[in-house]
Formats: sequence, C-alpha cells, structure tokens
Amino acid sequence: MQANDDLSKEQLRAELEATRNSLIELTEQVARNDKKLRRTQQRELRLLQAEDLDALLKVLVSGLRSSYELEYVSAVICDPDYDIRHLLLANGTPAESFPHLLMVESLTGLAPQYIALYKPWMGPFAACDHSMICPGASDVNSIAMIPLTHRGKLIGSINLCSSDAERFARHLASDFLAHLGVIASFCVENSINRARLLRSGFTDVLTGWYNRRYLSVRLVEELARARRDQAGLVCLMLDADHFKRVNDTWGHAAGDAVLRELAQRIESQVRASDVAARFGGEEFVVLLPGTDVSSAKLLAERIRNAISASPITLPCDETVTVTVSIGISEVRPESGDNDLKTVGDSLIARADVALYAAKSAGRDRVYTEAAQ
Ligand code: GH3
Ligand code: MG
Ligand code: MG
Repeated sequence: MQANDDLSKEQLRAELEATRNSLIELTEQVARNDKKLRRTQQRELRLLQAEDLDALLKVLVSGLRSSYELEYVSAVICDPDYDIRHLLLANGTPAESFPHLLMVESLTGLAPQYIALYKPWMGPFAACDHSMICPGASDVNSIAMIPLTHRGKLIGSINLCSSDAERFARHLASDFLAHLGVIASFCVENSINRARLLRSGFTDVLTGWYNRRYLSVRLVEELARARRDQAGLVCLMLDADHFKRVNDTWGHAAGDAVLRELAQRIESQVRASDVAARFGGEEFVVLLPGTDVSSAKLLAERIRNAISASPITLPCDETVTVTVSIGISEVRPESGDNDLKTVGDSLIARADVALYAAKSAGRDRVYTEAAQ
C-alpha cells in the first residue's frame, strides 16, 4: 500500500514537473511570438507611414533588409506600360536609382515561379531559379518570395534572402510574411494612385508639362534650396508673339499644335534639373537653379533661335513661323527671407515686366531686368 502511494506521488510529481516545463515553454513561445508580432507591426507601420512612392520603395527594399537583418532583399514589380517608371522619373527618382528594384514587363517572363505564387513561398535559394529575381545576390541560402497583389492579381513580389538555410525553410509558418505582403501590396497600390493623382493635378494636358499650380509649389522649394546653398535662381518667362493670329488664321486646333511644338522646342534646350512649366495660354516659365543671368541669357537666345529657325508644320500641312519674346529675372534669397512665396511672386512679376519690355521693343527678343 505504502509502495503504491509512493509510486503515485512520484508519478504526480513527474506530471507536475512536465506540465510546469511545458508551461514555461509555452510562455516563452508566447513571448517570442509577441516580440515577432510587435516587430512585424513596426515594419508594417513604417510601410504605412512612407509618405510617397519613392520613400515606400526604399522602405520595401533597404528598410526590410535592415529590419530583418538579411543579406539581400529585392522587389519585383510588373510595370507593363512603364506607368510606374514614368511616375518615378517625374518625381526625379528614376527606377534605376533604387538598388534591387526590378520593374518588368511580365512576371512569368522573368521567372516561372510567378505562375503559382499565391502565398509566400519559402525554401532553399537556387541560383538557377532565383538569380533573375535577385540579381547580385551572393552567399544566400534561403529565400522567401512574398507576393504583392492588386485586386487579387499578382503584380510582383518582395524577395527576402538569408545566408541561413533554415531562416526561410519550407516547413515554417508564413502567416507573418503573408500579412506583410498584404500591407505592402496595399501601400504600393496606394502610393502609385497618390503619385498619379498628384501628377494629374500638376500636369498640363495639352503639352504634358507641369502647370502653374506645380510651378508655384516648386518655386518655393527651389527658393528654399537656393537660400540654403546661398545660390541664385533665374526665371525665364516666354510668350509666343502674335499667337492670336495663328488661332485666327488656322483655327484653335492649329494653335494647340503650335503650343505643343513650342513646348518641345523649349524642352530640347533645357536641362533635366531645370523646371519648365506652362504658365498659362501661350506663356511658359523655365526656372534655372544654379545658373547666372549671363548663362541664362545664352540659353534664352538658344531657345528663341530653336523656335524661330524653322517653321512649324500645322495639322493642315501648312507651315507657320512663330517667334517668342523672353523676359529674364534673378533672385538670390537671403537667410532672412522667410516669406518665400512673396519672393517667388516678385521673381515671376519681374520676369513678366522684362518680357513686356521685350514685346514693346519689337518682339522676338530676350530682355533681362538689368537691360530695361
Ligand atoms: P503678343 O505678341 O502681344 O503676345 O500677342 P498675342 O496674340 O500672342 O497675345 P494675346 O494675349 O492677345 O493672345 C493670346 C492668345 O492665345 C489668345 C488665346 O486665345 C490664345 N490661347 C491661349 N491658350 C490657348 C490654348 O490652349 N490653345 C490655343 N489654340 N490658343 C490659346
Ligand atoms: Mg500672353
Ligand atoms: Mg503672346
């Protein structure tokens, strides 16, 4: 009887010990998951907080690489119409400037894995299968391909690569990664839409140039930069001469064609860092950061020549020679200039005064403020 009692006590103690151990293990597991969840939430928050497409792509690639402490991360996005690439270009951050961001015309054309990428895929990294989606990846042994989707359609993937073969092993649960994929997809779509909207509100439909609204925003930014760099900012204001005659003689559509051609001829002369905008009707403004008035005058003469040198062919196949008058103004914002909006308005107004002096003097000429 005593022996039986001792046995059951022993059994009870062993069971208690086992229960306590599994409880400790469970508590540790909960703590680990909790930590993992919080880190995942932080990563997702960083994606959600990215203020534009440019910032989001940086968080997606380099941000995830450092927060997951991985050897390599790439993002693949399907952009068959070059739509996203154009948005990035318009923002001044071409797609090529993002390391390990691949914009492709077709996903399955890049890698056959995309045919069945419905949820995160984890497994060994095989150069023959994965080097196309992870160019330049070396010393990596496991990979997680997280699908990016839009309205149920695959639009790309985020590819996390680790040197640790077990980091993304096939048997691991992928719930956290799937959730990250959903948030990342939402952010990508959202920021593309926002960039499109922003661009449409800032774009002139006829010429594809920036409009006056964009110019007023950008002008303040350029002035702030000039103030910081203690540099000048030059403004060219261009106006087509006797443009009304084109409309009156050949009609409004011909006038439109001339405006498009004028924009192209101006564009062919300016640098990518210059800001060219359609200011209104037949008036254009070009902001020249880091340029002095004498170089600006040379550029203005080149533009004037590029426009008047050869006639423009109209849709009716007739030709017309158009000239422009150009006014130039300059500003060097001081450190005490806090009202940059007023500084910008004055810059534009002074270029306008110079322009009308050029008109009064006979048109088809360049005038600077100093020359008045
Ligand atoms: P000036 O040499 O003094 O500048 O003479 P102008 O005829 O160019 O100037 P004015 O301001 O009298 O006429 C500008 C004309 O530009 C009037 C307007 O109908 C025309 N215009 C403005 N916007 C557009 C447009 O988008 N398309 C077309 N076709 N014409 C436009
Ligand atoms: Mg005008
Ligand atoms: Mg005019």
